[in-house]
Amino acid sequence: MNNGKICVPVFAEKADDLITDMKRAAQFADLVELRIDSLRFDEIDPFFEKLQGQSIVPDEQLLVTFRPKEQGGFRDLILQERKEFWCAGYDVGWGADLEEDVMDIGSIYLTENFIASHHDFVRVPDNLPAINQRLKNTYANIVKLAVQIDDISDGLSLWKLLKYAEKGTLIPIAMGEAGKWTRIMGPAFGAPLTYASLETGKENAPGQISVRDMIEVYRVKELTEQTQVYAIIGDPVSKSLSPFMHNAAFKLRCIDAVFMHMEVKDLDPFMREFIPQSGLNFGGFAVTMPHKESIIPYLDEIDDVANAIGAVNTVEFERGKLLGSNTDAHGFIDPLKRVYGDLQGASVAILGAGGAARACAYALNLEGSNTIAFARSQKKAKGFSKGLEIEVRGLTDFISARFDIVINTTPVGMSADSTSLLTSDQLEGVKLVYDLITKPAETPLIREAKKAGIQTLGGVEMLIDQGIRQFEIWTGTDAPADVMREAALDRL
Ligand code: NAP
Repeated sequence: MNNGKICVPVFAEKADDLITDMKRAAQFADLVELRIDSLRFDEIDPFFEKLQGQSIVPDEQLLVTFRPKEQGGFRDLILQERKEFWCAGYDVGWGADLEEDVMDIGSIYLTENFIASHHDFVRVPDNLPAINQRLKNTYANIVKLAVQIDDISDGLSLWKLLKYAEKGTLIPIAMGEAGKWTRIMGPAFGAPLTYASLETGKENAPGQISVRDMIEVYRVKELTEQTQVYAIIGDPVSKSLSPFMHNAAFKLRCIDAVFMHMEVKDLDPFMREFIPQSGLNFGGFAVTMPHKESIIPYLDEIDDVANAIGAVNTVEFERGKLLGSNTDAHGFIDPLKRVYGDLQGASVAILGAGGAARACAYALNLEGSNTIAFARSQKKAKGFSKGLEIEVRGLTDFISARFDIVINTTPVGMSADSTSLLTSDQLEGVKLVYDLITKPAETPLIREAKKAGIQTLGGVEMLIDQGIRQFEIWTGTDAPADVMREAALDRL
């Protein structure tokens, strides 16, 4: 357990709507941040009047903010208006969050908690330590620094300030998809609070996670500096179901570990600086596009499967060493065998010749299938066969009648407007169509296959099976497969 609080900002134009959300937020959150700047001017007095005398939400659960647009607020507010608001004597409950430029009004409230905050929605300012020091020198007892980052390693300078801050005095928020980990791990490292949205779709800052997920999926308040950290690293990663599968398994098994999305654009600073300097107690990570191959030089060892495929999707931290493996081949083949049976001698067409296709080809070779890969550019797919002894042909050469199984390993079908690479006519004679895409569950290719009366298999089973193997690598124990499957399907 840590001492951090989860704070949910609520915002609405009308007093009654703000009160409704306030009540909902208070059911889950330790603190409810009243974004008074979201209220219409003529609703501010009625709002505070309605609060008076009624214990809608206990005072000690309320934090008040009145912020101008340029600092992340909802409206244009001139300095004079903001100072007048703070001097009007409204009840602020647990505390008030003030920006640096209004702090000269002095400590006018009887509340114990003042947050002095600085926001930058564009970048991490070079003078962040100086800003931190300036805010520390005010009468505020808590400093909040919220800065936008585009790549995970950009958040390191912010995070390091937390390392040297007295416990309970600094809230470091890296905004954006790449900064989600600061929201999850802040309290574990001494941040007095972290922010969460009331629900998905009600975020008021980039990268905010819903309060339910913060509590139920990430178990934010239970985390400590010793908690083992796992993540899926890549770009993009926000849609990955891996955190939901692994966190459900950690929770069930009472393992002190957390799994997060980590958007890593530039792998080099992540491997060389972020991992050693962040202080996060990494246990391992899952690797996805575009780093499955480029991560190999950073690892101490890779296993035979990863070596044969030429790609790593799993990294384990083992006594100071980084060990790479690949669970995609295993994750791919097991669901296929479950639905198709013996693959010995089966003729298989793989559409695409990228990283996933190599894992499929490797696994199919071990089963004794006759496999041909079809690439849109044979020139680009030149290196594909290396070590795999698999023929590569042009996608336009595809002749269906020869194949028992067709596997899509291209991203075609992920977007709503995409069309199938093959029509139902072209699939005639095929016994099974396997599309590695997880979302949507029914891709255009799967639809065409169904039209032709062909059995189908979607990508989610592969995702689950490869995740189960990862859990076993990281924890050395059997994975709770049913719970992981349920968590993934639930999110799908
Ligand atoms: P990758 O290395 O980028 O390979 C993608 C392949 O698809 C390349 O051969 C690419 O050809 C081809 N391609 C891309 N767009 C195409 C188009 N419009 N028409 C024809 N071919 C096209 O990616 P990957 O890592 O192999 O992943 C591929 C897919 O598998 C993704 O959708 C991913 O989500 C899915 N996947 C699923 C799981 C799972 O657990 N279910 C696991 C891994 C991957 P070029 O080289 O010419 O660009």
